[in-house]
Order: sequence, then structure tokens, then C-alpha cells
Amino acid sequence: RPMTIASINPATNEQIKMYPPLTKDEVSAAIEKSDDAYQTWKTTSFVERKTILLKLAETLRANVDKFAHLITLEMGKRISESRYEINYCANIAEFYANGAETFLADQPMDVDDVDAYIRHEPLGVIMGVMPWNFPFYQVIRFAAPNVMAGNTVMVKHASNVPQCAEAIADLFRESGLPDGVYTNLFIPTEFVELIVSDKRVQGVSLTGSEVAGAAVASLAGKNLKRSVLELGGNDPFIVLDDADVEKAVTLAVKGRTVNAGQSCVAAKRFIVVDEVADRFLSGFKQQMSQLEMGDPADEQTTLAPLSSEDAAVKLQKQVQATIDAGATVVLGGDRPDRLGAYFNPTILTDITPEMPTFDQELFGPVASVYRVKDEAAAIELANRSSYGLGGSVYTQDAERGRRVAEQVQTGMMFINQPTRSQAELPFGGIKNSGYGRELSHLGILEFINRKLIHTG
Ligand code: NDP
Repeated sequence: RPMTIASINPATNEQIKMYPPLTKDEVSAAIEKSDDAYQTWKTTSFVERKTILLKLAETLRANVDKFAHLITLEMGKRISESRYEINYCANIAEFYANGAETFLADQPMDVDDVDAYIRHEPLGVIMGVMPWNFPFYQVIRFAAPNVMAGNTVMVKHASNVPQCAEAIADLFRESGLPDGVYTNLFIPTEFVELIVSDKRVQGVSLTGSEVAGAAVASLAGKNLKRSVLELGGNDPFIVLDDADVEKAVTLAVKGRTVNAGQSCVAAKRFIVVDEVADRFLSGFKQQMSQLEMGDPADEQTTLAPLSSEDAAVKLQKQVQATIDAGATVVLGGDRPDRLGAYFNPTILTDITPEMPTFDQELFGPVASVYRVKDEAAAIELANRSSYGLGGSVYTQDAERGRRVAEQVQTGMMFINQPTRSQAELPFGGIKNSGYGRELSHLGILEFINRKLIHTG
């Protein structure tokens, strides 16, 4: 991706609009404004905050097409998925608007001879560094709980989705949020340090790659700031011998190609027990090969381009390195001969731990299929990853499903459905997938002072 802040349509590689970055002085003034806004915002009632977030949800729902179009234009998501994302953002806003007061209620301590309680106070200005893959959802997931908690937020969005970034800031303002409570920052990545190291800023939340996460976590550590990281994943999709194979195939295609494969919780490693491996692989190949590449704004399209030309080039390099190292190409393996950031639906097998991409996230419609001899081998392989975000297991035996799910080292496990996100459920990982939780009641407690008040 270019280091400039630019809107480029990945279906045509056409540049639509460029945005000038802020200067250091402008960033400093923005922090001042956010901190000033915090002094007032923290004193507002839950009812006031709720009114604003409910208005925001209503505006999202009333303008689904307008916002969905922006997502599709800037990062190439299929239009129906873009609409889903906008409606889902409205759910998240409503969930926190309605739930915040309960989640943050004083909590009496049940300790003999002590009269004490925990009070949940906001912390101040919180920075968000956000990715392009779900340009509205990632931001709302971060901003909605923090705004409801009484914090103010500053967002550095990915440099390839500036129109979405601007639309989200407008949305908060037009919903009645006072100036300075939500700030969009058009800045180069070097400026993130200015913000995280500033005394007025209390924490940082990043969703993105491991490299970006490690960089921001180091800044947070050095400056003793709280951080939440939601990084990449290499989710296992475990098919056991007693699975409903036809159903698993359909879900595998869905799980691998959601958002053209560019989701941290997309199913990426298909670990299939020998007994059903041939049936699974032939069904999977058949359905993956039927995907119809096309304009993401066209309702008929079932496979969209990747978010940028750079992303497609990077994926091609990763796939080629795996093929060169001896992996078998069952389907695809390359880019189609057409304009735009497209990648052919791809299935690779015979991948060994020595191959370079064994432990890398493949961000696109590329599935790695592994054959294993039994359940124990499936679990062992699933855990042989430096990531630990989500995962799923397919079996017709519910007890067995739970047993396997409990042994896989990730932050989220699903039985008979691919990993997904829902406002009411916690989202986050372990190992190199990051730390902290978003969504659910846990998501609102990350940037909070859980303050003990001892009354005697
Ligand atoms: P990045 O992690 O680089 O981008 C995410 C955000 O972090 C952007 O706002 C980016 O800004 C910012 N950023 C990048 N580097 C730094 C840094 N050193 N300090 C502070 N902020 C930084 O993702 P990419 O778009 O480059 O994608 C690369 C890979 O990351 C993908 O192929 C995928 O594997 C993974 N990824 C995972 C995501 C997930 O949901 N888990 C989401 C996105 C990517 P800017 O845009 O200006 O560079």
C-alpha cells in the first residue's frame, strides 16, 4: 500500500481521492481538544450518551446503502457483505447504548468485615489504530464502548479507507456527540508514537497485523499505557470422521471466503481426518471453483477483489513460496488475467511445518488443507501455530465437539459453524493473536479504572 492517505478502488486500481496528512502541531491541538472534551464528557449521564449512540444506530440503518457503497468502493467488499457490516455496527452501538449502565454499575465487594465497592471510572483519551478489512465494524467495536464509558477516542484509520474514516467521524458528530469526543486523525504511522507517548493519552487499541501490533505494544509499554491488541489469526477448521461432510464443505467455503478471505477469524487451516478427507477435498474443490469473480458492487459477484494491488502481490508471493517449497496445488494458486486486485480461489495441500507459510496468515481466498490420522493428531496440528484467535470443529457428537474445542489453544472456539462475531459475545485471542477482549460486557471494561472505594 502507498504511504499516502488515498482512496483507491481495488476493483479497477483507480485512484479516487487523496487526503493531506495532519501536521505535528495539528495532532497536538487535536489531543488537547480530546482531553478538554473528556473533562466534560466524563460527567455526562448514561442517558445522554445512550441517546447519541441510539441516534447513531438509527442513522446507520437509515443509510445502509450509502455507507455500504463507501466500503465497497474503497476496499472492494461485496456489496451484500458491506450492508451486513453496516447493520451489524448498528447492533453494536445499540448493545452498548443499552447495556453500558449495567456493565459499569458499582460492584459491591462481598468480603467479611469490609464495606467496599468497585466503581468503574473512565480513563481519558484512548487511541485506536484500525485496519481496512471491516472499515466500519472495527472502528465502531472500539469507539462505541469507550464513548459509552465516558472516555474520548482518537482514531488513526488505515490509510486506504479515508472516505470511510471521514464518514464515521461525521456520523458521530451528526448523532450529537460533542466536538472532541470522537476525533479522526489523518496521520502517517510515525505519528502514532506522538499520540501514545503523550501524557494526556491513557491507552491504545490496535487491530491489524502482528508487526503493527508489536510496534504499538512497544510504544504502550515504554510509556506505561494500557493496550488491547487484536491481531492476525490462522484459524483451524477441524473436520472429524463423524462430521456431516456436505455441511462442513459448504461452511468451509463460507468460512474461507468471507470478505474475500481477509478476516482475522476466517477459517484458514482445514484439518481433516483421513476417513473423510477425500470426500471433503473433492466437495471443497468443486464449490471453491464455482465462485464468480467480479465487480464487488454487482450483487451476482461471489468473489471480490482483495483490498489493494499490494495485498494481492503479497499473497501471490506467499502462495508461490509455498508451491516452490513443494506444496500441491489442488485449485488456483495464482492471479487471474484481469484488471484489479483479484486472486483466484486456491486450495493447497501437502504443506509441511518447514514451509515458509505454514505459520503465516494468508489474507485472501487461499485454503490450506491438511490430512491427519485422527482426532488427537488434529488437535496437535491445530495447536502448532503461533496464532490463537478462533477456530471451529465439525462433528455430529456434541460432547466430542466440546471436548475438542476445550483442547484447542485459541480465544474462541465454535462447534459446527465457523468463527464469527456478535455484539453480545467476547472477541479476542491468545498467543500472537493479541490480548484483551472486545465486544460483550468485557469489551467495555478494558479502558476503565476499576476503582476500589473502601467505606469502612
Ligand atoms: P497493518 O497492520 O499494517 O494495518 C493496520 C493498521 O495499523 C493501519 O491503520 C496501519 O496504518 C497501522 N500500522 C501499521 N504499521 C504500524 C506501526 N508500525 N505503528 C503504528 N501503526 C501501524 O495491516 P496491513 O494492511 O499492512 O495488512 C498486512 C497483514 O496484516 C494482512 O495481510 C493480514 O495478515 C494482517 N491483518 C490482519 C487484520 C486482522 O483483522 N487481524 C487486519 C488487517 C491486516 P497504515 O494503513 O497507515 O499503514
